[in-house]
Amino acid sequence: MKKPFELRVKPIKNGTVIDHITANRALNVLNILGLPDGRSKVTVAMNMDSSQLGSKDIVKIENRELESSEVDQIALIAPRATINIIRDYKIVEKAKVRLLDEVRGILRCPNPNCITNSDEGVENRFYVISKEPVMLRCYYCERLIESEEIESQF
Ligand code: ZN
Repeated sequence: MKKPFELRVKPIKNGTVIDHITANRALNVLNILGLPDGRSKVTVAMNMDSSQLGSKDIVKIENRELESSEVDQIALIAPRATINIIRDYKIVEKAKVRLLDEVRGILRCPNPNCITNSDEGVENRFYVISKEPVMLRCYYCERLIESEEIESQF
């Protein structure tokens, strides 16, 4: 009962497989996760065939499960990603990332005059106005941020 995906990417005993990452964004996902860190076992597959997405990236990390703050960041650059948690070679949890209606404390506002870029200590805050492609609007200065600009921050 092996699926093509498992033939290409060798199963891991414990860890996380992030699948359905928007093509060519695997390296942004690694940045979010602070990888490579010089010791974690990480496998990256880019531009794999995907029936859902056309092409996709996959990141596999052994012996690591993700923090919810990391998943929130991944949702911004790969809104269709799925997170599979593997324990003892079995998928024990499979979840889609979820982009909330509001994003706080993750991204910088690109407007240099925005209050969140001043010394006032105001936490950045954005409304999600489109989920695919991701588009945000700054709560304070109303500056729009498009997908490529979000990607460039990771
Ligand atoms: Zn702003």
